[in-house]
Amino acid sequence: MKPIIIAIDGYSSCGKSTLAKALAARFGFAYVDSGAMYRAVALYFMEQQIALEDDVAIAKALENIHIHFEYNPDQQRNETYLNNRMVEDDIRSKPVSDLVSPVATIKAVRTAMVNLQRKAAVNKAIVMDGRDIGTHVFPTADLKLFMTADPKVRATRRFAELQAKGENWSMEEVIENLRERDHIDSTREENPLRQATDAHVLDNSDLTEQEQLDKVSIWVNGLLNAKI
Ligand code: C5P
Repeated sequence: MKPIIIAIDGYSSCGKSTLAKALAARFGFAYVDSGAMYRAVALYFMEQQIALEDDVAIAKALENIHIHFEYNPDQQRNETYLNNRMVEDDIRSKPVSDLVSPVATIKAVRTAMVNLQRKAAVNKAIVMDGRDIGTHVFPTADLKLFMTADPKVRATRRFAELQAKGENWSMEEVIENLRERDHIDSTREENPLRQATDAHVLDNSDLTEQEQLDKVSIWVNGLLNAKI
């Protein structure tokens, strides 16, 4: 039996990864944060001072970039590794958050990341969140969700999240970063952020995390029962 694939797409800070992690934990599926992959590439480009117009340097860099994830039981979180260095905190920094969407417009970068994402799902039940998972990475995913939330709710959540991590962002910077990333992500040429025609839309402006999990779990249970 082919394992289940759940694709979660949507705008920045809509709670995609929170829901994806909760679903993965509830059903024992693997979780892959595709945004973390693009962030790791952006971090590498930043550190190695790779110009986004330099196709040759980018091709070479992509050969030298190795990304993997490990679960850290002490922190109870999945951590991103770039060339065997744990970069989970570095990839959430402001400079990386500002650079990641421009980096994610580059065709060669997307091709490399999509290959990695597809490999991660071989023979595994998986929940993956991102921007093009249901439209491009797994167009035949068993369940597709498109998440939205009121921009004010999203900015407030993101601001609280960054504050809790001790990151020093002003509310204006948070709003500007979300606005800018949404714009670049939905207008780029290569696989822009779009709602898949067969996606369930989940507006979580007024839903708690538990309510979202319960709602989506009904759909997942339906799938699992249909697969038996
Ligand atoms: O999910 P997260 O907000 O961490 O993603 C960071 C950025 O990575 C997004 O704003 C987008 O530019 C890019 N991304 C993408 N395609 C994906 C996942 C993320 O282009 N599937």
